[in-house]
Amino acid sequence: MYTNNSFSNFKRKKKGGEFFYGVAYYPEGWPFIISGYGHPPKITDSEWLTDLENIKKAGFNVIRVCEFSWPIIEPEPDVYDFELYDKVLDKCADLGIYVILGVDTLNPPEWFFEMYPDAWLINNMGQRTIREWPSPCFSHPGFRERSAKYIKNFISHYKDHPTIVAYQVDNEPAHHPRRRKIIGREELYCYCTYCVNRFKKWLRDKYGDDAPYVPDPLPEFEFFPAWLWVEWRLFNEETIVNKIKWIKEQIKKWDRNHPVTTNIMMHVAFSNEYSAMAHDVWSLAEVLDEVGMDYYSSLTDEKELNYSIRDSAAYSLARSLAKGEKFYCLEIQPTTLRGQGWWSDEKGLREVGDPRLVRLWTWRPVAYGAKSVVYWVWKTQIPTVWALVRPDGSFSKYLNIVREVSDKIKRLSPLIAESKPYPSDVAILYSKRTLHLAFRDKMSEIPIQSILGVFEALWENRIQVDFINVDRAEKGYLMRYKICFAPFLYVVEKALANSLENFVKNGGYLFTDAFYGYFDEKIRYSIVPCNNLDKLMLYRNHLTLLEDKPKFVITKKWGSLKLGATFSGYSYIEEIEALPDAKIIAEFENKLPAVVLAEIGKGKAIHVGTDIARAYFLNKENNAAEMIINLAEMAGAKPLVRVLNLKPEESKNLEITLLRNEKSQIMFLLNANENEVYPKIYVKNAPKNSRIIDALTKQEIASLKYADGFETSVQAYDVRILIIKPKN
Ligand SMILES: [Zn+2]
Repeated sequence: MYTNNSFSNFKRKKKGGEFFYGVAYYPEGWPFIISGYGHPPKITDSEWLTDLENIKKAGFNVIRVCEFSWPIIEPEPDVYDFELYDKVLDKCADLGIYVILGVDTLNPPEWFFEMYPDAWLINNMGQRTIREWPSPCFSHPGFRERSAKYIKNFISHYKDHPTIVAYQVDNEPAHHPRRRKIIGREELYCYCTYCVNRFKKWLRDKYGDDAPYVPDPLPEFEFFPAWLWVEWRLFNEETIVNKIKWIKEQIKKWDRNHPVTTNIMMHVAFSNEYSAMAHDVWSLAEVLDEVGMDYYSSLTDEKELNYSIRDSAAYSLARSLAKGEKFYCLEIQPTTLRGQGWWSDEKGLREVGDPRLVRLWTWRPVAYGAKSVVYWVWKTQIPTVWALVRPDGSFSKYLNIVREVSDKIKRLSPLIAESKPYPSDVAILYSKRTLHLAFRDKMSEIPIQSILGVFEALWENRIQVDFINVDRAEKGYLMRYKICFAPFLYVVEKALANSLENFVKNGGYLFTDAFYGYFDEKIRYSIVPCNNLDKLMLYRNHLTLLEDKPKFVITKKWGSLKLGATFSGYSYIEEIEALPDAKIIAEFENKLPAVVLAEIGKGKAIHVGTDIARAYFLNKENNAAEMIINLAEMAGAKPLVRVLNLKPEESKNLEITLLRNEKSQIMFLLNANENEVYPKIYVKNAPKNSRIIDALTKQEIASLKYADGFETSVQAYDVRILIIKPKN
């Protein structure tokens, strides 16, 4: 047991007043612990003591620890050994380091699989998963029995330790081990008997006699009927969500005081190939006490390394999941290295971006409303692309950058900790049914590219955007937005159709494009758009044809859309029939309607019969972006800031976000340009007679009367943080 007398130096600051800045650390010796052999700790006491002291010296105030600790703590059934972690946590208390404590249920000890040889996740080829994570299947009753026991003992032991900030359950929850694509075959999970039987029951409970037929054995990917495929993926997603919910409930039996979070993988939501991984970020966020997330910038395309729209989308998603509250950022990368996978010898490591990008990657979560930034990882026992310290204990050069940022974060800690994001006027709708069906129909890239196309157009115009899912839309969450973009909404459930109708009738603007409403919740095709949405949208689509870049012309002036203006779509052209009372705003070259406007109640529904979102994302058709921006502005969604004095490319590489607290607004300017920039900035919500103060130097850089802008500068690959507050 740990001894309380060493905690006298450890005093927690008042709740909410502290920002957590830290690093993941594995005193048990990563990665041996998950390989199934390495039970004896590979690290000596003096080594982890030195590590903790260096972590403190680097300016960190939190570690994320214990994530893969079950085999160490319960080496034999019902035999518990807390010695290593007791010593580590007590040392953290001595040093004044907080702890985000991992609760490991995804990496059971070897004896667990000897006890339950059928508890592995099983893929569609009948193979058990490799010994990585997750390895056991949640559907197995033995998993729950042993996990519950472990959680009881683990939480009862540590719940009163003063260093604990929160529990992190699982790790990057997914019902799919790290993806291995077997040539020509999708590797899918989970085909274990427990899952298949639960799936059958789940379908019966949901649909009764109407439930789709489940072949025995469960088919491979190509042979799934469409509806059954969509339900199968939804079931797998729900299994993961239920697992996280169940773990949280087990923890709460023994400790009701500390919040439970986990590191939801944000990049998965914007990576079409992962659609089959069974990972529903919104539902995961709903079952946690507080939202937590991971993001790795270099997982995106190398060409986009300096400036990636996915990075901003990922943090916008995290902000959306947290519903205006702060979120834990639990893993980001602290290096711009790449290698052959995660583990590489020194020769295999190469730098793929300017090292100063690490600064921007660190500040970005802060700028979007994170309450913590945690790097992965301090040190591992095999060289990895993401470690700050090499296995021999020598420091990587990235540690200098990290130290510099930690100094600034420390100085701004209370200001950052007490500030929250602005609410957004714009939502982009994200549909899991659409994603799963598009995956099966071999169009998996379209939904994500469409979503990112809309996001990119708005983001570049500095209009803040949230992502919402179908479930939130159905629960009335749409009503807080002025406009909802629903690009490539292939499947529309009945409840969603009702929500969209309510949204428009109450004054919302709805945007849809090609393939809207092809299928209902049971993946049936009838009138398009389905579920009576033709009566809301005032059009019907009779056929969708392939056409590379269909052109259309504005034939009726509407808002800022000028008569005669020509637009390029992408990939598809719909044969649209406008219904009575519809306004045809634009026509294709074949004179069929291209843009149909329905004015219903207080709102408007706009359908474009091609794919303008991807026209922008893939072809950079500027008029497509203009249409998206015009629609948002017509709905009353305004940019948070306007920026002058910059070249277009410079402007794209200067990210600006706003947070706010009771007294002021906090502006983050993140410059990914290779040069210093001198923007002139107009702030939408700046109070009359306000002062602009540099948050770090405390110097006033401008004094504003009303609606006038101010000039500032941001160095290359650096951040500037400004406080905007009213004059007293
Ligand atoms: Zn299973």
